[in-house]
Amino acid sequence: MKRETIAIHVGYDGDPTTKAVAVPIYQTIAFEFDSAEHGAALFNLEVEGNIYTRIGNPTNAVLEKRVAALEGGVEALSVSSGMAAIEYSIINIAEMGNSIVSIPQLYGATYTLFAHVFAKRGITTRFAESDHPEAVEKLIDENTRAVFCESVGNPAGNVADIEGLARVAHKHGVPLIVDNTIATPILLRPIEYGADVVVHSMTKFMGGHGTTLGGMIVDSGKFPWRDYPERYYMLNRPEIAYHGVVYVEHYGDSAYIARCRTVCQRNTGATLSPFNGFLLIQGVETLALRVERHVENARKVAEYLREHSLVDWVNYAGFPDNPLYSMAQRYLGCRRCSLLTFGVKGGFEAGTKCFNALRLFKRMVNMGDAKSLACHPASTTHRQLTAEEQAKVGVTPEMIRLSVGIEHIDDIIADLAQALDCAAQ
Ligand code: PLP
Repeated sequence: MKRETIAIHVGYDGDPTTKAVAVPIYQTIAFEFDSAEHGAALFNLEVEGNIYTRIGNPTNAVLEKRVAALEGGVEALSVSSGMAAIEYSIINIAEMGNSIVSIPQLYGATYTLFAHVFAKRGITTRFAESDHPEAVEKLIDENTRAVFCESVGNPAGNVADIEGLARVAHKHGVPLIVDNTIATPILLRPIEYGADVVVHSMTKFMGGHGTTLGGMIVDSGKFPWRDYPERYYMLNRPEIAYHGVVYVEHYGDSAYIARCRTVCQRNTGATLSPFNGFLLIQGVETLALRVERHVENARKVAEYLREHSLVDWVNYAGFPDNPLYSMAQRYLGCRRCSLLTFGVKGGFEAGTKCFNALRLFKRMVNMGDAKSLACHPASTTHRQLTAEEQAKVGVTPEMIRLSVGIEHIDDIIADLAQALDCAAQ
């Protein structure tokens, strides 16, 4: 199936009892066992089935199958937010004394999680000087458990060299984890370029309507965990936290997600609500159509801003003279993401004046909504970072980030025009 079809059909053939065509919301905590023996078989992982929604739920299972298929992975786990997805993707394979290596351009909370929260738990993050594979490779050592990048950086807009990063990660026997939130599998499928695990904030384009927090972890099923029995002992040795199961033996290619579900999620509980799972399924069904319009509108906005006399700079990977252009061309083809940043002439003051004058664009810290959204990263998403840290992740004081929505382009441009006029006065 093509992606447009996967997004609508995979994972659900209709409810056998009610014949419901839409995916039902299984708003239940627990599922009944036929007998004590059946319950024991479920707990022993001898038969498939539902036990308790913290571990898995049939509504969420449809979403998991759909996103796994969209990304070309073998298995997925839905969680309560994008941040939970990022955290689980790492703590599933790293612990105190280990490190991860990350490219520097990251979403603010991801940077904080890596730099400060993980650090307090004894997992060190080594941030590379740049997103070049050689800069990343220099920092990998025997304690490294994963390399991490965003396929398209928020808000820097850089497109990571996934193939190059996967090559250096694999050379040293560690997986590459890619946050594919901004690109979505409609524009880019990191697994096709060698990524081992893909994470998502489903909250953004996947859900698409600014209503629902959620996250997803997708496993390619390709990383050879068995080849590194000491490094990834948690997948290769009997798991004390789950009846001594050996994940690679019991689950084969699905070992990583199975442990994530039965150890990370079961015991810490960042579970997606089935109602949110249902809402995200609605979003995913129209993802391909929405992304097409987002991309088209963003191109027109970037072109408009670039020609405007009051705009100092526009960071949009679709301009051939942009340093991001060639990497974007390689990984996104002729399409570009609908997230772009620009600076108004006059620096911070003119920038905030323009930002405050927006009427159609909502001033907020979200993105990927059907509505056009604007954000001032230095005072919001990246506020917790020092000026030096902001510069490292690609944030400048005057920067305005736009998430261009799917309204009519004339209305979007009219709003920007009047806001820039206000900034000029
Ligand atoms: N990853 C990226 C690239 C993001 O932009 C965000 C949030 O903006 C997240 C992860 C975190 O997602 P959530 O808000 O669903 O926790």
